[in-house]
Amino acid sequence: MATPAPATASAQPKVAHPQYAFFRGRVVPIGEAQVNVMTHALHYGTSVFAGIRGYWNNETGQLYVFRLKDHYRRFLQSCRLMLIDLPYSGDDLAHITLDLIRRESYEQDIYIRPLAYKSFEGIGVRLHNLPGDFTLFTIPFGKYIENEAGCHAMVSSFRRVDDNAIPARGKIGGAYVNSALAKTEAELAGFDEAIVLTEDGHVSEGSASNLFIVRNGMAITAPITDNILEGITRATLMQILRDEMGVPVQERSIDHSELYVCDEAFFCGTGVQISTITRISHRPVGTGEPGPIATELRQRYFDMVRGASEKHMEWLTPVY
Ligand code: PMP
Repeated sequence: MATPAPATASAQPKVAHPQYAFFRGRVVPIGEAQVNVMTHALHYGTSVFAGIRGYWNNETGQLYVFRLKDHYRRFLQSCRLMLIDLPYSGDDLAHITLDLIRRESYEQDIYIRPLAYKSFEGIGVRLHNLPGDFTLFTIPFGKYIENEAGCHAMVSSFRRVDDNAIPARGKIGGAYVNSALAKTEAELAGFDEAIVLTEDGHVSEGSASNLFIVRNGMAITAPITDNILEGITRATLMQILRDEMGVPVQERSIDHSELYVCDEAFFCGTGVQISTITRISHRPVGTGEPGPIATELRQRYFDMVRGASEKHMEWLTPVY
């Protein structure tokens, strides 16, 4: 019998590769940052990650990393949930990150992806008594949702994974199967994004973002007990809305049908930034055009993260 042709991985979408990664305790060329196929996390999703953005400011020639310490605080909490014990503090991780970005000499917007994972090479579904490791890479990055200023979202048929099934407030690799199912269902059906409900039918969040609606001048977002990831962008926007725009913010459960009567809606997250939702499941949100609160908030947010408004410089870490 003839030897079958080697199975090739299905075509990989083109993505820019960085030059370096932090891997097994040191910086190596990206091609050397490779794990064995027996690695536990590859089989069981036993990893945790973060997604952080760096914004390039052309005027000042500076790259600002947004809320670096806060991302690593949540990252280390996710590690605790998954019994991954790293030899690094939040400050160590911030230091490693800034060092790696400098080596790439970026002069553009970037995305930073730290990953902690069960590096054990062998069989056995559990968390305890398994070694873990940390790796990190950074890549140039633009938009996550193509249609950021007016996206069409569908209410997903997939429910958000419950905190008692997989801790929702952890950014846990395996839990992102839930996000991927919802995102793919939405995109294959012609939508831009998914809105995911909790098992009891309340609005939880997007596939990889939190969600706000606006009703009668009030911004409303799901509470942290409705199986959301405790988003850093969400917390940022709550503060800007309240303190700078004078918009009251309510954290409370959101009914499914409120999506169809609200005046404005938007996703927020490191990847999606602030993506205005102008249609939900074929119905216009408000007028069907981006509303005034989301529009002003986006402007303020983008000026702030780039260091252009000189507001909240305490959230920005300059790289150079
Ligand atoms: N929910 C989920 C499921 C996410 O993956 C993300 C992206 N990290 C968010 C919400 C938004 O979180 P953050 O603003 O901290 O990026």
